[in-house]
Amino acid sequence: MGQHYLRTYKAFVLEEVKKNLLIIGDLTGNCAACNELGINAYDAKACPQCGTVFKYIASRRLETHPSERFQLARRLAEKRPDLLLIDYLDYQKAAGDKAARDFFSL
Ligand SMILES: [Zn+2]
Repeated sequence: MGQHYLRTYKAFVLEEVKKNLLIIGDLTGNCAACNELGINAYDAKACPQCGTVFKYIASRRLETHPSERFQLARRLAEKRPDLLLIDYLDYQKAAGDKAARDFFSL
């Protein structure tokens, strides 16, 4: 039976995701916790700068290359079976909403 990648929805604590998230761009990744750049996304278990251990991965390429979305998801799942792939736009939107809430509650 062929396998397919389907997006699922699950509740997360945003701070917990941010603390352990590797965001990958076209070539390298960055740490969501400390914004360290140039991290090898296929290799790094932890951030070389702040030492956070990655548990989640999000890819900007999935947004910029929607037709390749599921190929990219498969490649990430093969290369980083230790990380949970989350949707970058979902994360970004939730982080933006939280920043706005924090700002207005001051
Ligand atoms: Zn870091």
